[in-house]
Amino acid sequence: MDKLLNSGSKLGIVGGGQLGKMLAIDASRWQLDVSCLENSNNPPIQSVCGEIKPGSITSYEDVLEFGRKMDYLTVESDSVNAKALTELEASGVKTFPRGQTLEIIQDKYLQRKFCAKNDLPIPEFHHFSNKESLVSSYTEKALQLPKIIKTCKAGYDGKGVFLAASEKDLEDIPDTELLVEELVSIKKEFSVIVVRSSVGEIACYPAIELFMRENAYLVDYFVSPVELEEKIREEMEEIAKKLVVSLKHVGVLAIEFFLDSNDKVFINECSPRPHNSGHHTIEGSLTSQYEQHLRAVLGLPLGKCEMKSVAGVVNLLGDENYSGKPNFRGLEECLKLAGTNVHIYGKNETRPLRKMGHITTVGEELTEVLEKIKIIRKEAGVGK
Ligand code: ADP
Repeated sequence: MDKLLNSGSKLGIVGGGQLGKMLAIDASRWQLDVSCLENSNNPPIQSVCGEIKPGSITSYEDVLEFGRKMDYLTVESDSVNAKALTELEASGVKTFPRGQTLEIIQDKYLQRKFCAKNDLPIPEFHHFSNKESLVSSYTEKALQLPKIIKTCKAGYDGKGVFLAASEKDLEDIPDTELLVEELVSIKKEFSVIVVRSSVGEIACYPAIELFMRENAYLVDYFVSPVELEEKIREEMEEIAKKLVVSLKHVGVLAIEFFLDSNDKVFINECSPRPHNSGHHTIEGSLTSQYEQHLRAVLGLPLGKCEMKSVAGVVNLLGDENYSGKPNFRGLEECLKLAGTNVHIYGKNETRPLRKMGHITTVGEELTEVLEKIKIIRKEAGVGK
């Protein structure tokens, strides 16, 4: 660390959303020289990062040009141009995640194939190169419904995920490359955050239980740690560790899991970077996921993942009927709750279900945290 600080090494973060902002906040505690590549005006990271280079995170040229000036490079989004990362890695920039890893992550079909090849549990899946071939397969009775249908690329927060229960539902499916999956009878959803350093040290946070927004495929709130059968907890941790090693990943890797009605565990998807389901580690854990990611990327010893308390996070999602300038409500009521902190990302515009901030609450007991979450969900919001 001394060498790192004394040499004035430069760290580049590709993307300036809330995850980039929180990475930059932790980096600022060490007074690291951080730059960010981001195209939007007034991105969340701007309040905590001295140098923001305008440019697109998906552009090969922009990422390459930005990355060339860095000693270390990381990302806050899965959509970063992977080819540019591979090239930067080859040219000697310490680039984590690797471009090769992001190429797999950016395509849900490649992710599934990678897991299958490495003997990791996933729902049964099929791949179709377009909508027509999927519909023909259904018409010819090779494919039965119900199924979950996902666009292979560019999906997030449930955008690009469709439940097809009957033929009529196929009408809404976009004409693009598609992944078709068995509909898992989900009992619970979890996320496990694992981190691996460049010297192979691995640490894992306790499982996080995710509670989805009704009628939307995105996370409403989450808590950790939760009561969980030892066997299931161990299984998810083992899978997380195996996956981070298989990907040869350095940094934080967040893995989302399904637990089905027979207590069988499936990987849903993973992201090789700090994750929205890890915000609770800021207040709740001995080392936040952001600091862990920095430690791993910079080749430093990892911190402890133990929780100091039970922690829960409520996402502040944009009201469903409004787009425009955000107006937050109920925050003061939430601040009155003991052990509660408000995080506002600083996005200029709210949209239906857009993540605009989150509220973390910590406590001794899970029941206490869940009680406070109930109040926060009732009081807080963002809309007109
Ligand atoms: P995104 O990448 O947009 O977050 P996901 O692939 O994680 O989309 O899916 C979003 C949600 O959709 C999951 O959290 C889960 O609730 C539901 N879902 C996804 N795949 C399946 C499946 N095979 N069976 C049942 N539900 C699923």
